[in-house]
Amino acid sequence: MAPPLDALLDTVAARIITAADELTTLDSAIGDADHGLNMRRGFEAVLAEKQAILAKPLGEALKTLGMTLVMKVGGASGPLYGTLFMTLGKELPAEPGVADLAGALQAAVLALKARGKAEFDNKTMLDVLGPVAAHLASGTASFDSVRRLAAERAQATIPMKAIRGRASFLGERSIGHMDPGARSSQIMIEAVCDVLEGRS
Ligand code: ADP
Ligand code: MG
Repeated sequence: MAPPLDALLDTVAARIITAADELTTLDSAIGDADHGLNMRRGFEAVLAEKQAILAKPLGEALKTLGMTLVMKVGGASGPLYGTLFMTLGKELPAEPGVADLAGALQAAVLALKARGKAEFDNKTMLDVLGPVAAHLASGTASFDSVRRLAAERAQATIPMKAIRGRASFLGERSIGHMDPGARSSQIMIEAVCDVLEGRS
């Protein structure tokens, strides 16, 4: 079945826009206090372009979404989330199943790792996206287990020391704060689960 892209875009954008202040507060602790502003700008642009995005087949739609995020989010996170969605667009068939989604998300995580020259446990969005991709690939995932894992992995960035991104400039002082990109990834994953499960 084709994914409900209209509802997915609406809900992901709404959740990110609602969380903009929270994301910016997280980024004010270990970055430059703009992650929420960046993400809100990006997803407002996505909503403005939604009809053009929806008119395309799934792969092209996701590539356009990724390009919009590259152009509008800016910062480090724009090109990284852009890479994520563009790779999903390249990898996903028109009517994906769970196995397709798992494979595409794993490819997207690898592309994101290469783009940001980051490893897991560097205190970035990868610490949520990577484990969720692996969990989907395990074939044992439920909506609840994906939501729970994403929340746990965002929390798990709190004691990490940042090795990549602006937070790495703080060294040891980056310890004790949740990574803003890990939190925005968790919010998006939760939104996708809620829509696909019919809760939103
Ligand atoms: P900037 O750091 O340029 O101000 P944002 O504040 O929008 O950009 O995004 C910061 C987030 O981007 C971080 O919390 C982290 O999750 C993510 N990030 C930064 N650099 C990298 C990287 N090299 N690899 C993966 N994620 C990264
Ligand atoms: Mg920032």
